[in-house]
Amino acid sequence: MPNYTLPAIVLRRVDFGDYDLILTFFSLNKGKISAIAKSAKKSSKRFGGILELFSVLQVVCSSTKDRELMVLQEADLINSFSGIRGDFKKTAYASYFSEIINAWSEAGSEQENIYRLLYYVLEQLDICKIPEEILSVIFQMRFADIAGVRPNLSVCTDCRLEIDRIKEDLVAFDFIKGGIVCQKCAGMSVNRLFLSKGTIKRLLWVENGDLSKAAKIRFTPSSVKEGLGFLESFTTYHIGKELQSLRFLKQIRKKDE
Ligand SMILES: [Zn+2]
Repeated sequence: MPNYTLPAIVLRRVDFGDYDLILTFFSLNKGKISAIAKSAKKSSKRFGGILELFSVLQVVCSSTKDRELMVLQEADLINSFSGIRGDFKKTAYASYFSEIINAWSEAGSEQENIYRLLYYVLEQLDICKIPEEILSVIFQMRFADIAGVRPNLSVCTDCRLEIDRIKEDLVAFDFIKGGIVCQKCAGMSVNRLFLSKGTIKRLLWVENGDLSKAAKIRFTPSSVKEGLGFLESFTTYHIGKELQSLRFLKQIRKKDE
């Protein structure tokens, strides 16, 4: 059976029986993969206790007859991002990013840009330079683009009127059409939400340019809240259900209010 050695981020870990763990990784070279870590639960010595959520590992896996599941042979720690797991809110956001990737990407397809994006947001969560909410805006905008569902925020989806020429300050976003619509074209669509032009502009800035520039865009508290609300609805619409980690994030926010 062939062996694979590759860098991979732990997206999910579940107990399997009394002794084993099943891990879902997002790897650099093979995208999403699942592997069983035998005896990892029984003895922490087996893998040195490094099979933690959001850790970046160099893993050696062998394939089995069951194509869906590999066997984890060895793992070395590249980065533990330990600052995330010690913090309640950071853990909640990292779980949300992982759950989106897990729900939205197909197993085995190489997606190096998803790996780089996830690595970037986890690293930033770990070093605490950018607020969690802004990182979530960046992650969801960029992920939608990679997943091929980039929201159209620059022109009316129906008549192609540019955002700068739309007179109203609140612009409707139509989820079915996947883009903004001017008031004339909006009609009676029910699957929509309103966004202020200021927020739309910021989201467009996040979409373009490199990640370090995206992180420097200044969001007002109201535009973060609005942008985040929009992107969470957008992500939920495309995944087809509300993720458990998002429900949890919403509960935390309610408590903070
Ligand atoms: Zn229009």
